[in-house]
Amino acid sequence: MEHELRAEYADGSSPGDDDPSVKTWHVVRGADSTAMCGRDLDPASAVRSVDLWGTGKVPICHSCGALFLRESP
Ligand SMILES: [Zn+2]
Repeated sequence: MEHELRAEYADGSSPGDDDPSVKTWHVVRGADSTAMCGRDLDPASAVRSVDLWGTGKVPICHSCGALFLRESP
């Protein structure tokens, strides 16, 4: 199963903004817009490679991180 990171936006920001403020990144399975921690994310939200997980470059949801670790080989 392919995992991806999906953005949760800060209050007042939305995917349609010119420069939306991302609050944290959640891990989703494939094209699912519900994060592994159970949070519903906007289907229009930005998606990034899960390779960013563990690099410390982006803020990532701790619940998703723990669940993702369990599914990673
Ligand atoms: Zn999460």
